[in-house]
Amino acid sequence: MSRFSLDGRKALVTGANTGIGQAIAVALATAGASVTCAGRRSCDETLAAISAAGGKGDGLLLDFADPMAAKDTFAGAGYDILVNNAGIIRRDDATDFSEADWDAVMDVNAKALFFTCQAFAKELLAQGKPGKIVNIASLLSFQGGIRVPSYTASKHAVAGLTKLLANEWAAKGINVNAIAPGYISTNNTEALRNDPARNQAILERIPAGRWGDPEDIADTAVYLAAPASNYVHGAVLNVDGGWLAR
Ligand code: NAP
Repeated sequence: MSRFSLDGRKALVTGANTGIGQAIAVALATAGASVTCAGRRSCDETLAAISAAGGKGDGLLLDFADPMAAKDTFAGAGYDILVNNAGIIRRDDATDFSEADWDAVMDVNAKALFFTCQAFAKELLAQGKPGKIVNIASLLSFQGGIRVPSYTASKHAVAGLTKLLANEWAAKGINVNAIAPGYISTNNTEALRNDPARNQAILERIPAGRWGDPEDIADTAVYLAAPASNYVHGAVLNVDGGWLAR
């Protein structure tokens, strides 16, 4: 069997109703995994795309307004792969940034991600089973950004936690890695693409000369979920058209 195949695996993807999470769910299913599409609303569109690709999946409502929402999701459920993709962003000047915008972003992007990893790994460790965790980081896991303090703090946390969890779990057969997407065409970045000056400035700085597609991230997620990446631990892989190399 190909070392890139996910045949017989069971995956859960958070925020799978749209954007990068949707593309990851479809790609994992196309590679052979049965995929639970988790979101705070229905993932019907993603499930239809999975069926159309000949794959298998189901839906699960998980709202990370409660960062502990996934604590009972994994016990006895047989998952091998977890993709922590759900994420939000809030923008304001640092001097005006509100506590509510700090807490909302940190809760979904960092706290929920950590406790979902914890619940997933506890189950695998109890069963003595190997597994794969793929966290979705950001260019703002490395750079400062502007007017997005809680997003930057949360995505630096994602990179740090990915390394910490890899240190604790690598010898126990759980690979923990992250993908740092560059500028990808999704709802999240629509405002930037609709601002001609920002759009042009962004495109001029991307060596590849184009926005990324969600599928660019999804293919990397398949690699990090598959046996092909068995010796990759604690990596934060940039998939950014060369942005960070500039
Ligand atoms: P998106 O289209 O806005 O998708 C974000 C996903 O997270 C949606 O499914 C969203 O659900 C879900 N989500 C938000 N709050 C949630 C909650 N409380 N509980 C459960 N799910 C929740 O954005 P995207 O671009 O695909 O982003 C996906 C990930 O990639 C995020 O972690 C983001 O930070 C990261 N990322 C994106 C880019 C980019 O250029 N697009 C770059 C770097 C990193 P709803 O649809 O219900 O809101």
